[in-house]
Amino acid sequence: NNEQKALFIIFGGTGDLAKRKLYPSLFRLYQKGYLQNKFAVIGTARREWSDEHYRNVVKESIKDLYLSEKVADDFVSHFYYQAHHVSDVEHYKTLQKLADELDKKYALCGNRLFYLAMSPRFFGEISRYLKTENIVTDHGYNRLIIEKPFGRDLASAQILNKEIEKYFPEESVFRIDHYLGKEMIQNISAIRFGNNIFSALWNNRYIDNIQITLSEALGVEERAGYYETAGALRDMVQNHILQIVALLTMNAPISFNDVDIRREKISALKALKVYSTPEEINENFVRGQYAGLGDMKGYREEKDTAEDSNIETFVAGKLYVDNMNFSDVPIYIRTGKRMAVKTTRIDIVFKQVPTNIFKDSGMQANMLTINVDPQEGLNLRINAKEVKPGFHTESINLSHLHDIETKENIPEAYEKLLLDALLGDATNFTHWEEVNYSWRFVDAIRHVWDLEPADFPNYLPGTMGPKCSDELLAKDGNHWEFNP
Ligand code: NAD
Repeated sequence: NNEQKALFIIFGGTGDLAKRKLYPSLFRLYQKGYLQNKFAVIGTARREWSDEHYRNVVKESIKDLYLSEKVADDFVSHFYYQAHHVSDVEHYKTLQKLADELDKKYALCGNRLFYLAMSPRFFGEISRYLKTENIVTDHGYNRLIIEKPFGRDLASAQILNKEIEKYFPEESVFRIDHYLGKEMIQNISAIRFGNNIFSALWNNRYIDNIQITLSEALGVEERAGYYETAGALRDMVQNHILQIVALLTMNAPISFNDVDIRREKISALKALKVYSTPEEINENFVRGQYAGLGDMKGYREEKDTAEDSNIETFVAGKLYVDNMNFSDVPIYIRTGKRMAVKTTRIDIVFKQVPTNIFKDSGMQANMLTINVDPQEGLNLRINAKEVKPGFHTESINLSHLHDIETKENIPEAYEKLLLDALLGDATNFTHWEEVNYSWRFVDAIRHVWDLEPADFPNYLPGTMGPKCSDELLAKDGNHWEFNP
């Protein structure tokens, strides 16, 4: 019996994230038996809603998932709504009463998960009231799940963390990075540590370079207001990309548990070479902003953006993890909006054989590709004999794609992360020290970029970014392996 007992309190229960991700994920956990009778959800937000209205909203959000009305109705009967304003202490008092009532009614053993699906500026205040108004219990667990972004630079992240840590110890804070919930990102560890052929070669003696691409085909859409204060470096590099870098370059953990894995990830991020001078930064990082084309608006023409905006919608960079196994391996990263395709993929490019006895000029380096999105699978490029008279080599691909049925059954990132939080497994959540080292790296670049206006816009929609991104690799005699 997998049944978990817990009360979820979702702050921001009327929001986009709650409706699109959290309710469907909770329902899937219900269908799989992780949630049965002993759970309840309190949704809070500013609007005055009745429980009945809230239950209808939740039911609507899972309408593609249920086959039976009765199952859906049973599920939503566990949902309660509480109008709430973040800084109104009375609201926390009513919340506390309701929470205790539901705890009794459903026999929840004092277990609570507080999900902050709201603007980060409220995180500190909510954590404080949860503690001072006794909404945290003393006879079960109390876990705080928080959404990104965690700060907008190191200084603000530190302030936020100090505030939260007064009320919630680090081991009870679950910082969401939904990339860590993706199947193929979790697969990195299985590939690295479950295969002797890869674990033996996973170092600077055999790897030539690593390439990470997180490209989006869409523009900023309705998020321009937020994006103007963020940019691609903060939005994608500080969290998702550096998390992937850590998983790719960390040393083998002693065992596969959250404490050991996060210890190694922290070490990898600590070993990240921080660029400090403007020269170093300009040598190793480039930025871009998309222009308009036809009826597609350029970034500066989007609603809520400045007409001379200096915000980057594209970043490419070369970074180094200076630990024993990875020093001297360039790790190229790129991410951007309005690019040719939407994709997330990792290419591990191995060194060529020490000497090419075949005298074939076109022999390619071995490459392991981890396809994260939208395809999910692996590809290993190797050299083999071409099936022809004479003796020539050719590159062939050993390829595995999750089939459609497997893919359909892959739990959604949020479902996996919510289950992990229920089970108290923090492996796929970011530890404060990871956030700390990531901001330290990103801040140095941000600082220089904020002072120097860029020559924007500099790339067309439907391309893989500005020319300077290709030049960054060409300087080293390399090229982006993924070139759609
Ligand atoms: P949203 O704007 O759709 O919802 C915000 C919620 O906060 C609403 O329920 C609103 O009623 C409530 N709220 C706002 N001010 C309040 C106040 N003063 N008192 C009480 N309640 C208040 O936002 P969202 O898109 O759901 O995002 C929530 C969080 O999740 C943010 O931190 C965001 O960065 C993060 N996030 C969202 C997504 C997504 O897909 N939407 C993805 C990743 C991260």
